[in-house]
Amino acid sequence: MIPRYIEECYPAAVDGTMMQDTKLEIEILPGNALCKECNKVFNLVKNSGICPCCLNKNFDLLSGKEFSIKEIIAF
Ligand SMILES: [Zn+2]
Repeated sequence: MIPRYIEECYPAAVDGTMMQDTKLEIEILPGNALCKECNKVFNLVKNSGICPCCLNKNFDLLSGKEFSIKEIIAF
């Protein structure tokens, strides 16, 4: 998975920089989908698998691709 890969590589990536004593925390946003009708990205869990914009069930699953960096923690 991409987020885990980044978390593992982060210490090496920041080694020798002013960021070297920080820890990366990534928040994965699970179950996101892209509505094929109106192109809105919505959360499948929150919206019960129905687009909140046009109430369609025709969507592409984005799960596993969508993630964001939650915070960088300094030790
Ligand atoms: Zn829609």
